[in-house]
Amino acid sequence: MPQTAAKCSQCKRKETFFNRVYSGERLCKKCFAQSVEDKVRATLVRFKMLSYNDCVAVAVSGGKDSITLLEVLAKMERKYPRAKLVAVTVDEGIANYRDEALEITAATCKRLSILHHIVSFKQLYGYTLDEMVIQLRKRGSELTPCAFCGVLRRKAMNLAALGVKADKIATGHTLDDEVQTSLMNIFHGDIAKLASEKPVTDVVHPKLVQKVKPMCEIPEKESALYAYVKGFKFQSTPCPYAGEALRNDIRSLLNRMEDHHAGTKFTVSKSIEKIRPALATLLEKGNFKECRECGDPSAGEVCRACQLLKQIG
Ligand code: SF4
Ligand SMILES: [Zn+2]
Ligand SMILES: [Zn+2]
Repeated sequence: MPQTAAKCSQCKRKETFFNRVYSGERLCKKCFAQSVEDKVRATLVRFKMLSYNDCVAVAVSGGKDSITLLEVLAKMERKYPRAKLVAVTVDEGIANYRDEALEITAATCKRLSILHHIVSFKQLYGYTLDEMVIQLRKRGSELTPCAFCGVLRRKAMNLAALGVKADKIATGHTLDDEVQTSLMNIFHGDIAKLASEKPVTDVVHPKLVQKVKPMCEIPEKESALYAYVKGFKFQSTPCPYAGEALRNDIRSLLNRMEDHHAGTKFTVSKSIEKIRPALATLLEKGNFKECRECGDPSAGEVCRACQLLKQIG
């Protein structure tokens, strides 16, 4: 008997395009794309991430996850006329890398009629990331570019969101990002971060815009596949500074586990979600004050961004 391609388990008509091993679903292209959108919608509802009249600053780097997030939210926004989306891109100043992402993001925003707001390290801090890295190396600092960039990007994104009067910042963190970060926090013994880095951050200070992660239940592979099915343009070249050793090891470990034990990433994510409230009760509630250098919210006298900037003079 000749083998016929299995039919989609959803519509029962079209040929299978994607085998979702952890759930047993076999989906055609159309049903797969619909399922990703439905999952994002379900996550938004489950975590009560957005209100019908929110102004949302979408953090768009131009990579597959943030472009997918922007496209999915833009599609949903059409049903909520009082909601508003603004795309925000942080230009760190990385030569031969960020320019392509900026072009792709600008074109996507134009097509979707979404305002695109760009903030740059140069304009905010006086240096591009490339210039900061030169300074770090000259001074023999052991800090990696990512350690530096991560803190300064968060600050830049918050300032940009405040600037466009956003109620929330939505980021394209996927299930993979979230599980990797949680395990990194465990490996670093940073229980405070493990408790606080959740799908919807707590409101701890009026000048810190709440962050939501609508894609936190979408595996990275599915985010990429969605972008491919929809024909979105996105930047695929990795950042020249990328390569946090621990994250790479954890990523490989989790991918291996997922291959051998489908659903591992979801299981880890759900377990952490369950223990988070208990962790929060063990931690002292930090009192946020204002950084004496820049005036931004800070857990200490001087915020982490100002501490880092001091290291490059
Ligand atoms: S990979 Fe590191 S240096 Fe590059 S943009 Fe991301 S955080 Fe910044
Ligand atoms: Zn189908
Ligand atoms: Zn500061």
